[in-house]
Amino acid sequence: MEDNKSVNVPTETGVPDPGKVESHAPIICAQNQLAAETRLIRIEKLDMVRILQLEACTRCGECLNWCPVYDQDQREDIIPRTKVRDFLRIIKGQHGLLARILRSSSAGEPIKNLIRKLFRVPLVTEETVKAFVNNLYECSTCGQCQVVCPANIDTVNIWENIREAIVSSGYGPLPQQVPLVKSVKAYDNPWQQPRQARTKWIRRAKKEGLLKEVPKEVKKSNPRILLFLGCTAVYDVNVRQIAINTVNIFEELGVDYGCLGDAEKCCASVMLRMGDPEFERVAKQNIEQFNSLGIETLVTSCAGCYKTIKEDYPRVKGLEFEVLHTVEFLKRLMDRGVLSFQNRVERSVTYHDPCHLGRAAGVFDAPREILKAIPGLNLLEMERIYEYSRCCGAGGGVKAGFPDIQSKMAERRIREAEATGAQGLVSACPFCFAGLQVGIKAINSPLVMSDVTSLVAKALLGTNAEEAAHNLKAE
Ligand code: SF4
Ligand code: SF4
Repeated sequence: MEDNKSVNVPTETGVPDPGKVESHAPIICAQNQLAAETRLIRIEKLDMVRILQLEACTRCGECLNWCPVYDQDQREDIIPRTKVRDFLRIIKGQHGLLARILRSSSAGEPIKNLIRKLFRVPLVTEETVKAFVNNLYECSTCGQCQVVCPANIDTVNIWENIREAIVSSGYGPLPQQVPLVKSVKAYDNPWQQPRQARTKWIRRAKKEGLLKEVPKEVKKSNPRILLFLGCTAVYDVNVRQIAINTVNIFEELGVDYGCLGDAEKCCASVMLRMGDPEFERVAKQNIEQFNSLGIETLVTSCAGCYKTIKEDYPRVKGLEFEVLHTVEFLKRLMDRGVLSFQNRVERSVTYHDPCHLGRAAGVFDAPREILKAIPGLNLLEMERIYEYSRCCGAGGGVKAGFPDIQSKMAERRIREAEATGAQGLVSACPFCFAGLQVGIKAINSPLVMSDVTSLVAKALLGTNAEEAAHNLKAE
């Protein structure tokens, strides 16, 4: 009989997690009794539709031409075609009928030898799995492969689903990515910052005279709109200008909004992208908190929060409100005549579509229409835009796991932006903002990085809000 006793699962850091119990014992793999011990990948964690989609891959290699990570690290092992093939081999080698017979203690050696001789059951060793895991996590989940795949394979959801099966089996995420996930669990943010520091930016910005008003607390004002600021815009001093400018814009326009303050928790996007099964628990807590507020709309300036809350949360529990990105909300206000611009912003800029806002959610036009409405602003387009926008490499764990690759990816995007002749590069995501800044620094580019909210604040308020907020120093 197959040994199926419960064991503690060692984590990628080598420390057993007593909270996690693996129902499959380690196995000595199929053909080679001397092969290193490996754990079974828990395929019951996989959506069957997704497994069928893996079989639909024709190995055409179109994804190879477009993957922005492969563009910088030309290892065929990281492209979708190879990852699909390798994962199917692991599954076949561990879970196929013949693999099960080879593992079974009730089958005798003669029959096993015959099977080994006649059939080519893939050999799955610990090294095989670890190499696959490394390749699986060298992906920014940008979704470009999904757009170009002629077989229409839902690659991003597949990568995330396989990552969940991998983590549930005691592999992954990579050691460099583990702190992000642990931090969300320990501090409700991925940046290893204390919970009580979440609203520190407000006191500092108010003291510096950068905030028109302290943002209203949602619990006190019972507003129709919740402004969900997200962890990066409040903890990262380099991108706090996004939180500051958004609040100033909302105050100026008299928007009926409120923020959660210290009660705001990470949307857990990091957990989902890394494949951590606890994502559902955190998502459920957040959904219940949001639903209890009686809000009509949740607005966020972060493309990662937006995609997670709008597209991924409903799989966990229903949302009783609409979800808008700030650019969609501002565009709505423009259409209603609430938002218009009196001040000129004399600058030429080019716009970078964040993967999680553009490709993932189809929001391409709203930010461009806002930028085009700003007097004096000249919008120039890069070669790769809309669903073909080139990823900056900041997402999916690549920045934490493969910083050199992320830097090269950002550098490539910056070169594209420079080729337009623009003075500035604009995006609509704190994560992209930080990721692209890596590229600007790497090649000492003269491009000025901005968020759409910075330019809106400048055109609306006529103040030097952008530069002032940008200069806000760390405490
Ligand atoms: S483009 Fe799609 S079908 Fe072609 S190799 Fe890549 S994943 Fe497979
Ligand atoms: S999601 Fe993006 S980074 Fe990942 S394999 Fe597809 S194209 Fe490459």
